[in-house]
Amino acid sequence: MPSDVEIAAASPMQPIEDIAAKIGIPESEIFRYSPHKAKVSLPYVQGRDRREGSKLVLVTATSPTPAGEGKTTTTVGLVDGLAQIGESAAAALREPSMGPVFGMKGGAAGGGRAQLNPMTDINLHFTGDFAAIAAAHNLLAAVLDNHLQQGNALGIDPRSITFKRVLDMNDRALRDIVIGLGGPTNGVPRESGFDIVVASEVMAIFCLATSIDDLKERLGRIVVARTYEKAPVTASDLGVHGAMAALLADALAPNLVQTLEGNPAFVHGGPFANLAHGCNSVTATQTALAHTDWTVTEAGFGADLGAEKFIDLKCRFTGLRPDAVVLVATIRSMKYHGGVAVADLTTENVEAMLAGMSNIERHLANIRDVWGLPVVVGVNRFPSDTDAEIEAFTKHVEGLGVKVEICTHFADGGKGAAGLAKALVEITSGQKPELSFTYGDDLGLAAKAETVAQRIYGAERLEIPSAVAKQIAQFEDEGYGHLPVCIAKTQKSFTTDDAERGAPSGHVVEVREVRLAAGAGFVVFVCGSLMTMPGLPKKPAALAIDVDSEGAVTGLS
Ligand code: ADP
Ligand code: MG
Repeated sequence: MPSDVEIAAASPMQPIEDIAAKIGIPESEIFRYSPHKAKVSLPYVQGRDRREGSKLVLVTATSPTPAGEGKTTTTVGLVDGLAQIGESAAAALREPSMGPVFGMKGGAAGGGRAQLNPMTDINLHFTGDFAAIAAAHNLLAAVLDNHLQQGNALGIDPRSITFKRVLDMNDRALRDIVIGLGGPTNGVPRESGFDIVVASEVMAIFCLATSIDDLKERLGRIVVARTYEKAPVTASDLGVHGAMAALLADALAPNLVQTLEGNPAFVHGGPFANLAHGCNSVTATQTALAHTDWTVTEAGFGADLGAEKFIDLKCRFTGLRPDAVVLVATIRSMKYHGGVAVADLTTENVEAMLAGMSNIERHLANIRDVWGLPVVVGVNRFPSDTDAEIEAFTKHVEGLGVKVEICTHFADGGKGAAGLAKALVEITSGQKPELSFTYGDDLGLAAKAETVAQRIYGAERLEIPSAVAKQIAQFEDEGYGHLPVCIAKTQKSFTTDDAERGAPSGHVVEVREVRLAAGAGFVVFVCGSLMTMPGLPKKPAALAIDVDSEGAVTGLS
């Protein structure tokens, strides 16, 4: 099979105004960045009602293995699959970060015959949204340091500053730095560092904002430091949230591209799924819902992290409600959870696969019993999957009363996901589900996090060191206790230990620190190590990427 970039380059694209016209967006309301990518005007999309009867489908996955489960690929394949059975559908997805594109993971525009196009543009710069987000973020950082320089009227304690700078690159040398060196005209020396753009609170805000006004208010609430009296200092105290919003206003308009089969995809925003909520912008989701009968959206990581945050953060804030969930699983991942080494995942092993099904069972129980959502399992088929494995998998999941569809969109495009599309039509034909959140707003912060750990991860309890408990109490005293929580932990396990596969129970989840994201509107519970500025691997993907004299990019995967 040809590589992703070869398949994408060989697929003819339709003019983007034709894609827009297909779903009723007039040409006058799109701004073309190239013949095949455009933004849809913000005044046009803002406040547009969800189309009558339009359905929202969340694509999530079992606990991911190092091999990758294929959520993005399945999201794209499902949109094409829905189109194959005559439904109008659009994808709502995150924009790839250039850190992973040049680092280890590679691009994030799907794979095989289930991709977004123009894949090169989407993976490299795209429409400049991340640059706008970095500029807005770094403007706040610059104004903050300038405030120290110009006499520090707010009495900011420089040692308390939590707000770093950002850029969209994996660059470990910038993790911890000292700034302001070189004498009195060069600022106030202090320790700081860089995070990757997708870790910026501005990114999370950008993705949750429902309008420019909401964006500005949220930006104003970002807490950057404390005064010597320990009071929070916000972006609005520094008076810079208006200028930040001005930098972001154009970017807030959702981007429109197409799948390889010419169906619409809104690709917009891209927050981390650990210290943020890990899904595309609300404006993109709402634009898709206003213009198509089916909106298919992805949440990062496995369902314990991504789906939980989609529901407890994005849905809670916006009133969005999914109609159904697609749980992506691979035969390989079940074998992995059954104890098979990564190197042996392509060898048939029905017994280990069945042993690893405890992982999918826990995720299915969460989706059905905790959140109350209808679910279908989409098996992303790999060439190494044997018929015996597929049969045993299907029998097991059907025994739990859940539909299973074997999907081959990676090899076959939309027709390989037509069965999944039909299954969705079936499971959403009855009454609209009643979504339940994992916890209510009125619980304390620690109780909210513990409820997630117990109900979703199967943990016995949280362990909170006294210094962290003090910090939580301070946030509650300051009036942030009503906020929901965002748990940052490994995506590889229901526990905080990467190596614990399957569905462990009764474990203890240790909270290392808590971080206030008052603008985004949640408190982050860091349970495990949290990498906010990745490094490059020994052989970065960048080394394989090139461009020819005609401008055609090669080597992207
Ligand atoms: P996720 O969104 O869950 O992180 P992706 O959809 O980005 O996963 O897929 C991860 C990687 O696996 C991509 O490089 C993709 O091309 C590859 N991939 C996905 N599905 C298949 C498949 N069925 N066969 C081979 N490779 C696949
Ligand atoms: Mg993905």
